[in-house]
Amino acid sequence: MAQSVSVSPGLDALVNTFGNDCRQRYGRRVRKLTLDAHFTCPNRDGNLGIGGCTFCHVPSFNSDDGERYNISSQLKRQMAGRQDELFFIYFQAYTSTYDEVSVLKARYDEALSLGKVAGLFVGTRPDCVPDEVLDLLGSYRDCGIDVWLDLGLQSARDDTLRRINRGHGFSAYEDAVLRARARGIKVCTHLILGLPGESHDDYLFSHRQVLELGVDGLKLHPLHIVEGSTMARQWRAGRLAPLSLPDYAHSAAELIRRTPANIIYHRVTAHARAPLLLAPDWCGHKWLGLTAITERLAKLGGQGSLTDRPFIAVTQSEIAC
Ligand code: SF4
Repeated sequence: MAQSVSVSPGLDALVNTFGNDCRQRYGRRVRKLTLDAHFTCPNRDGNLGIGGCTFCHVPSFNSDDGERYNISSQLKRQMAGRQDELFFIYFQAYTSTYDEVSVLKARYDEALSLGKVAGLFVGTRPDCVPDEVLDLLGSYRDCGIDVWLDLGLQSARDDTLRRINRGHGFSAYEDAVLRARARGIKVCTHLILGLPGESHDDYLFSHRQVLELGVDGLKLHPLHIVEGSTMARQWRAGRLAPLSLPDYAHSAAELIRRTPANIIYHRVTAHARAPLLLAPDWCGHKWLGLTAITERLAKLGGQGSLTDRPFIAVTQSEIAC
């Protein structure tokens, strides 16, 4: 799902955010540019299934609007007036490793050839990263590009993954993470809080499983119901209730406090806009989730405060340029 989010200055003092990491590594802000390179998804095109994950809204897999998916056009538009800036390219839409390796290489190469690119994020599913794809991503890493595999897991509970029709289990995630990290490719894992049948203890379980296996970054999302998804029907039938803002902020903060300082948070909440967003209302306001989480962390302790590796914010004057 394509939503954007940023972090507030308050959060940066309490959490090892991607912005913090970039400022320390590059001495400056790095902008993430998002791409829809017209990939599809095996959980939609019939290879694994046709319904997709029950939370997922995909407006069109079959559009022939070539210009809309033109990589150079998308990037040049976002880079306009920012020629001196440093960028990360984010292949965000759908399953961005789901094609022939030659096709993937052509699309990644095109994106990396434009502007000053420091890194590459590739969003995908754990069962769509064969060795040849990881070898390709590893070749960019060998050229000095900071390469991240952006992996949707959502939950480490196999029964939950079945319930939301993910089409893979936790073992596929384990396999992908071990093979990626063995090649020096960083892994950023998505977790959704509020999935049907889950409670705070399940979020803690998933988070623990991910940390124990090894991970470099995390993205936390509140479950939010979007138009066009299977969950939209379940929600309209009264069979689904998303988390309240206080409950989400409580759970997200507890996960963050249990996360060692070296792990980078790329996202701690998410938002979407009406009419796409159906529920909960608070997800329609970008700052509500960030503010609630920041307030809890300020009161209780920031990232790693419940581990032996707490996060300590680096001040601007300590950053080497
Ligand atoms: S794997 Fe991703 S694109 Fe495919 S159905 Fe699930 S959420 Fe949607």
